[in-house]
Amino acid sequence: MNLQGQTNLPKPAPRQFDPQVLAQEIVERLTYRIGKNAQAAKPHDWLHAVILSIRDRVIDRWITSTQKTYEEEGRRVYYLSLEFLIGRLMRDAASNMEMLDDMQAALASLGVDIDLIAELEPDAALGNGGLGRLAACLMESMATVDVPAYGYGIRYVNGMFRQEISDGWQVELPETWLAHGNPWEFERREASYEIGFGGRVDPAEGDSASPHQMQWRPAERVIATPYDTPIAGWRGKRVNTLRLWTAQPIDPILLDRFNAGDHLGALAESNRAEALARVLYPADSSPAGQELRLRQEYFFSSASLQDIVRRHLQYFGDITTLPDKAAIQLNDTHPAVAVAELVRLLLDDHGLDFDEAWDITRRTFSYTNHTLLPEALESWPVPLFERLLPRHMQIVYAINSRLLAEARRSGVLDDQGIGTISLIDEGGERRVRMGNLAFAGSHSINGVSALHTDLMKVTVFADLHKLYPARINNKTNGVTYRRWLMQCNPGLTGLIREAIGDGFMDDPEALRDLDRFAADSAFQDKFLAVKRANKGALSTLLRQRINARIDPGALFDIQIKRIHEYKRQLLNLIETVSLYDQIRSHPEKDWVPRVKLFGGKAAPSYHNAKLIIKLAGDVARTINHDPAVQGLLKVQFVPNYNVSMAEVMIPAADLSEQISTAGMEASGTGNMKFAVNGALTIGTLDGANVEMRDHVGEDNIVIFGLTAQQVNDRRAAGYAPRDVIDQSKELTQALNAIASGVFSPDDPDRYKGLIDGIWTNDWFMVAADFDSYSAAQRRVDALWKDQAIWAQKAIHNVARMGWFSSDRTIREYAADIWKIA
Ligand SMILES: *Cc1c(COP(=O)(O)O)cnc(C)c1O
Repeated sequence: MNLQGQTNLPKPAPRQFDPQVLAQEIVERLTYRIGKNAQAAKPHDWLHAVILSIRDRVIDRWITSTQKTYEEEGRRVYYLSLEFLIGRLMRDAASNMEMLDDMQAALASLGVDIDLIAELEPDAALGNGGLGRLAACLMESMATVDVPAYGYGIRYVNGMFRQEISDGWQVELPETWLAHGNPWEFERREASYEIGFGGRVDPAEGDSASPHQMQWRPAERVIATPYDTPIAGWRGKRVNTLRLWTAQPIDPILLDRFNAGDHLGALAESNRAEALARVLYPADSSPAGQELRLRQEYFFSSASLQDIVRRHLQYFGDITTLPDKAAIQLNDTHPAVAVAELVRLLLDDHGLDFDEAWDITRRTFSYTNHTLLPEALESWPVPLFERLLPRHMQIVYAINSRLLAEARRSGVLDDQGIGTISLIDEGGERRVRMGNLAFAGSHSINGVSALHTDLMKVTVFADLHKLYPARINNKTNGVTYRRWLMQCNPGLTGLIREAIGDGFMDDPEALRDLDRFAADSAFQDKFLAVKRANKGALSTLLRQRINARIDPGALFDIQIKRIHEYKRQLLNLIETVSLYDQIRSHPEKDWVPRVKLFGGKAAPSYHNAKLIIKLAGDVARTINHDPAVQGLLKVQFVPNYNVSMAEVMIPAADLSEQISTAGMEASGTGNMKFAVNGALTIGTLDGANVEMRDHVGEDNIVIFGLTAQQVNDRRAAGYAPRDVIDQSKELTQALNAIASGVFSPDDPDRYKGLIDGIWTNDWFMVAADFDSYSAAQRRVDALWKDQAIWAQKAIHNVARMGWFSSDRTIREYAADIWKIA
């Protein structure tokens, strides 16, 4: 049967949107897809039926989008990322398809509360933090801005671990997001590919083989099969595809072994294959380092590249036009091996010569760098790389000799410079440098904020930048305001619409109109009432979840993000201890009631990060039980921070903590979500905070601390934390209290090592920034006391954050890197 090309096939009628039709359809789905009637259906069945009804409508647009892409024959974007932190999709898809109200009405007519079933949808937590969430925001914005795009990643069976807190310590539990099935995805068996590992490389056979052509004979092979999830843009204009790979063995079971009685051995190969898509490595800002991780990187890079090349040949027939039709963006170095994989495919499968293959590769790839932390730069031991990917090792050497020859010819680098740009780190154990490979194989390398991009040029890529001065460019991150304003904060969204109309929903820069309401006291009152309602909702949630009691009348001061020393949750906790001390010493002062909320996961192997979580719990317990500060200070660690938790916490925040050591946070995106939801930022001049200050105005943000330059200078001059601590009575007291066990009487030395680290080394400049941070917090108190002033500043934040929409980010990528009209 071949129906391709037939035009007279019956077409299904596009789905209708009215509530009555929807209600009918949902019941139909329950009956015929799930096999239950409305009386017998459980909440999960309803969720499933609702998703199927939304999905149908998404599919109509998905098909037209795909059609349009083919007809236009333009360039497509392929976004390769080992992480996509997309969270829940139901509200997102329904809202973007503009059917949320109708769906709510339809469900109400069936006696079902949409909020209750929405709660049941698991978070697709296929990412650690900012990097994975950026990938999700960019996917949504590409669909919104009408960029034809595919996201490529791995369909981890167990995404980010679920965090429980037991006796104050983080406990990691497996997240089983697929337990009830995933109605959003479609398995596409027909687009499966073989992925090889190990084995040997022989010269290619045949007279016509080019000298560069080789035949790789892998020792091990697995099958990559994709699952497609439609990603709908705003107003459903375009629906793009998120294609996630899963791994299967070639033989599900080795029957000869099984029949010989070796039942486990018969499944060993199968288990080894399936391990590839089992876990997301839970380390953020540091490389995983294990062989399985490199296997994952190659697995998804190879499958994606084979898919891209297959699609290109199917539609355009000529491999040499690939760069005109495909733009492949590498989200960090995790997919950097794709550079060598494309060269391999072009040389070995398509018989191109090396110069041509290399030219095509560089014109196709571009690379986004996400961190300058030296410990986070990915590299692989040469022996491991060679054993797993023998053909790619040869290609890396071949690329390297060209790169180094070019560098020598250019004369811009000395020997040391040539050593630093080499794809092979020759100091000690030889390693393949994935950052250099990604840079060398790309025509564009971008940072994610202005500061980070500038620093990139003088740190990690200083020498490569000298050699290729036109390649580095900046693309400041953004977030999608559909999810991070319209869906998560309907109260504020309604208020904005009332004031300035709906224009901002299609053009976030139109939020600017709100500026004229900032000083309007009636509007301020409404704004504060919305904030108060959001804080009430968070209080209720925390009471239900963790039996916490927080007063929505207090200032909600929130720090939620991965736990990392450079993000300085410890600075916040030490200041909290100091504030506690000051309130107890001066109960007569007019203190501002504060609720300090912390949330975030620690990498399971990151000892200090886990200790910081424990400290947050210990500090919370002590403070919350002390009658002397009742009603003035409350501290709470909120477990299992994820996208869904962020969607409740961010709209409820008054104060957003963005306090990383300057120069160490590449951009941040949490900072943007808070500001557009009307929180004031207390922050350092780091990452995108710098640009946020420029946009919202320095009167509407609370900046403190050393600049990146100053941090650098202090370190170079031999920073002595002891001298700084000795000069600050408050800091000395707080450090001594924590180190001596005031908050951990059950184990007085628990934090001794952590605090000793500040006395003796303090790489993250906690002591250096403490007084400035503490003073900034007291400025926050002063602002809070005049609620009209506070509201005015918060409204200016909402009004002036339009630029940080990921739509703007995507338009910049499209114009400058991908060259899409
Ligand atoms: C936005 C977001 C992040 C990133 O937060 P930063 O403060 O920029 O580190 C991490 N995790 C989740 C769940 C997010 O939504």
